[in-house]
Amino acid sequence: MSDNPWPCCNSLENAVFEQAIRFVGKFREWGIPIPDGGTSFMEMTFCPFCATRLPPSLRDAWFDKAEELGIGPPYDEMPTEYLSEAWWLLSN
Ligand SMILES: [Zn+2]
Repeated sequence: MSDNPWPCCNSLENAVFEQAIRFVGKFREWGIPIPDGGTSFMEMTFCPFCATRLPPSLRDAWFDKAEELGIGPPYDEMPTEYLSEAWWLLSN
């Protein structure tokens, strides 16, 4: 039970704040941004600062939830809590 999505250290949180690392809240994914001008990133399994194993991605669960709600691409009808980490923080 927590409203804090950060799994380990302040360094990870700071790196996301500085945009050195990307955090996709709705999918619970952390990654190294690919500097191609888009939103691509390489997903990280461990925190690069303290070596904590990061919690698994919820990407599949997110799309399962969309299907359950009868929402398809481009998913812009998803309830607000599904646009951020709110949905999995609340269900923890
Ligand atoms: Zn860490």
